[in-house]
Amino acid sequence: MSDPVRLGDVLAGMATPGGGGIPAQPGAGGTTCNRCGARADWHRTIRDKWILIELGEWPVGAVPPGKRWRVAGEGTAVNLGRAQPSDTCRICHFDVCPSQPAPVGSPALLAQWQKNAWG
Ligand SMILES: [Zn+2]
Repeated sequence: MSDPVRLGDVLAGMATPGGGGIPAQPGAGGTTCNRCGARADWHRTIRDKWILIELGEWPVGAVPPGKRWRVAGEGTAVNLGRAQPSDTCRICHFDVCPSQPAPVGSPALLAQWQKNAWG
């Protein structure tokens, strides 16, 4: 118990998919949501969490600020906040998963939620 945690071990842990109880789905491409069965992609965020990104692209203007995502070149999911670096963005599946309450404030997200709910 007296061993200090070495920085190298911390960094190694951060780089290891599956560590810390996060889903081990790195680079697996498509998967299905275990709540609703919809297809989506796992991506690691810059905060080292894994989220499901909905397939396809959405017009930035149709997605509320804070729910806009972009997948960077190395596969990292980045929340865009209020930024609009391009015409389209990705959305998080958890915002449109029918196991969650219907999204409010965005007809586009609501439509996708309904699509997922009805298969
Ligand atoms: Zn789902």
